[in-house]
Amino acid sequence: METSSEEGEQATSKIFLPLLLSLLFLACKKTIHEMKPVKVNHVQKTIIDTIQKTTTALPKKKKKKLYLTFDDGPNKGSSKVLHIAEEEQVPISMFIIGEHVYASRYQTEVFDSIENSGLVEICNHSYTHAWQNHYEKFYSNPDSAVKDFARCADSLHLENKIVRMPGRNIWRTENTSSTDIKRSASTGDSLESAGYSVIGWDLEWTYDGKNLELKMDADSILKEIDTAYARNLTKYPDHLVFLAHDQVYADPNDSAQLHMFIRKLKQKDYELLTISKYPGASQ
Ligand SMILES: [Zn+2]
Repeated sequence: METSSEEGEQATSKIFLPLLLSLLFLACKKTIHEMKPVKVNHVQKTIIDTIQKTTTALPKKKKKKLYLTFDDGPNKGSSKVLHIAEEEQVPISMFIIGEHVYASRYQTEVFDSIENSGLVEICNHSYTHAWQNHYEKFYSNPDSAVKDFARCADSLHLENKIVRMPGRNIWRTENTSSTDIKRSASTGDSLESAGYSVIGWDLEWTYDGKNLELKMDADSILKEIDTAYARNLTKYPDHLVFLAHDQVYADPNDSAQLHMFIRKLKQKDYELLTISKYPGASQ
């Protein structure tokens, strides 16, 4: 009997073991099936994609654009400006006067170092700076004025057609047309017809014409920049063209202010760009 009982147990295990294994298999299969990703519809997918893009897109793009431009080089202050830009690794644009480049060996060398820096976008501030500041006469003859800019472009082999008119805050771009002194408007028009982009400025770091000292310190001019954006005082919303003059920064106190200004600027929520990135400026 005992033998038959053992045989019975063996028979039972032969039936139950495969059944148990099959049930276990089915249970596992169901669990694995349940672990599959939940199907999302099109709208849900768009929401998930947007969240992923927003959280992974670092660093966040800065909305406000700032263009640091320096006029009248190369002169005694230009190498100071260049060294500060290099030390802080910020892009700047320099509106160069053609005849200044050839005025002395020193100025030619400064121009060469500006060209080789890779941080400076070189633009056109005419060859003679409006016949050495004879603005009224210079702008009364648009054709000869345009030739003066063309001479600067040719002699310096400039790569863009961006100009700033000496002594005038005149704009002619795809998006902007503005004239401060109406008698000079026709020269702005002629430059535009000749394919140039004319860029003025939204805010200037002014200086005393007699002793070349800055009229405002770094903190004051930074506040002016904040205000210009906040009150939408720029020619193009959220884009500010800032004007400074190289000659001011030959002075150690003023160059220290410029250095502090740029250091503090880097902490702010502004993207620094060269002037060819300005909306509507020709490349
Ligand atoms: Zn100038």
